[in-house]
Amino acid sequence: MGLIKLLPDILASQVAAGEVVERPASVVKELVENSIDAGARRITVEFQRGGAGLIRVTDDGCGMDRSDALLCLERHATSKIRESADLAAISTLGFRGEALPSIASVSRFRLSTRRREDDGGTLIEVTGGKIHEVRDSGESPGTRIEVADLFFNVPARRKFLRGEQTEASNLLQQIEILAVSHPEIAFTCLRDQREVFRLAATEDLAIRLRDLYGEAFLRKLTPVSPQESQGVKVHGWIARPGEGRSDRTLQMTFVNGRMIKSPILSLPLREACDGVLAKGLHPPAVLFFEMDPSAVDCNVHPAKREVRFRDPGVIRSVALQAARSAWENAGPAAGFSPKAGSDPLFPPIAGTVWKPAVLSTQNELPVQSVESDRSARVAESPGSTAHSMSAFGIQSSVQAARFLGQLAGRYLLFEELESLMVLEIRAARERILYERFLKRLGTGELESQHLLLPEILEMSPADLAWIDAHRSILHAAGLVAESFGQGTVKVDSVPADASSLPVMEILVRLMDELRTLGDSPTLDPAGREALAASVSRLAASGAKLPAGEEAAMMLLKELLSCDLPYATPKGRPTLTQLSPGELQRRFTA
Ligand code: ADP
Ligand code: MG
Repeated sequence: MGLIKLLPDILASQVAAGEVVERPASVVKELVENSIDAGARRITVEFQRGGAGLIRVTDDGCGMDRSDALLCLERHATSKIRESADLAAISTLGFRGEALPSIASVSRFRLSTRRREDDGGTLIEVTGGKIHEVRDSGESPGTRIEVADLFFNVPARRKFLRGEQTEASNLLQQIEILAVSHPEIAFTCLRDQREVFRLAATEDLAIRLRDLYGEAFLRKLTPVSPQESQGVKVHGWIARPGEGRSDRTLQMTFVNGRMIKSPILSLPLREACDGVLAKGLHPPAVLFFEMDPSAVDCNVHPAKREVRFRDPGVIRSVALQAARSAWENAGPAAGFSPKAGSDPLFPPIAGTVWKPAVLSTQNELPVQSVESDRSARVAESPGSTAHSMSAFGIQSSVQAARFLGQLAGRYLLFEELESLMVLEIRAARERILYERFLKRLGTGELESQHLLLPEILEMSPADLAWIDAHRSILHAAGLVAESFGQGTVKVDSVPADASSLPVMEILVRLMDELRTLGDSPTLDPAGREALAASVSRLAASGAKLPAGEEAAMMLLKELLSCDLPYATPKGRPTLTQLSPGELQRRFTA
């Protein structure tokens, strides 16, 4: 060809760019997927200033000759659909021939590429959609694409970009997804010229997960051995029973090799956890679903993140089955690691069926000692407080209360003016700590406990970027941490009230909680409330049970001296009461 020409309809490309390219992370996705399609064995992703400054993807794939290199910058030029029949059978990752022209229309774009069999390569430079340079270049085989100053010519879109740290974190997250779905490809990532990770190619997904997320994360997972039902196959890894996180960034579900977020895939995983994982938590998982391409429509979402399944029922049952069989195979011994509070609300017990433990109508009150066997406890769902008891209108006074005992390691029972009062220990602590933390945050940081030996923890690249971006809010929560090189973070101090929990757990849970506050949580009044609520939930889960009558009375007293004693910041009841009338009604035939 050798013809320099203007890209057709630049404007149309820019419009399309709005759909395909929302942010640096989506550019990386499109470029890396192209490299994967090109058969690359090694892919290097470099980026600067969160990707808004520069993204450079280099691969050792098949490369392009000059005419193809020029052609690929035209809209709807794709080497991936030969006939319309191919549309239904998408075997490659991309197929719309829109990504490169779209990206080139909104950036300073440079493509250099060379096929292995050719003597020389081609370099093409495009600025805002106009090709202004095509020449020979002496590249090594493969393709390198540079995208500089993304959206430089579309200020409205550039304004939409978040802070550098947020974009970097999203971008790293995207590379993680691609690296997880292709362990057979070596990945290297450099951020602002510093190496973030270098992943060796491997046939073993477990090794890729370990290299990316660390040994500790891998130990939390159990394999899902390949299985198939009605044409839908699945394999991968899923968290052991009871392991959960409140955000879903570590839940990766792939359909025919492409990461897909869909409730049809994620809800069954959560459903499988009912009874072993508190509400609001999700099991980390990396699951690969394979099905006939015609059973899934990928063209629903321009960036191909959503799909429509022909038969969602089958998908659901396969996903459920995957989780359950993995846990059966995990065996009871390995199945549940009794690590304190891996669930923020209740200690999860694998396999227990929920029964209301308290005040069930037929039984007497099974009052147990503090040391009651963990396994005898019943995991109860947060909303299940016996509904016949009202949390409102309690006229409690500490003076009139008499301590009766503890129940199920979770409740304190008091008699008060012929009523039975039940205090939920963890909820009560949450309320007490919340009010204390809120006052304290008004004047400074939460108390922190300095660790004698700082802990070095392995974290994912995206998490590390997040931690560095949010050091000050973590600090306000009492946690002092900074990245320490080679995929690790160094933790020097933890919130004093949570210091009995494992450091990794404090960090991960705090991070999950803070992430729900949005991209850049601040310490305005609303931010302080949210932070106090998060840390109080964390700290309450790590606190020891009150031992003995004096401690029990003290807890009641502290609770009743709160401004709003009867519920946690999230509205969970802390104290409830069964009146003489209510008791009598229950004993009337
Ligand atoms: P699509 O991936 O949907 O085909 P793109 O705009 O992403 O559309 O890419 C257009 C074409 O450019 C691809 O079909 C492929 O032929 C070629 N191409 C893009 N990136 C690469 C690469 N890294 N190596 C080899 N060929 C590539
Ligand atoms: Mg593509």
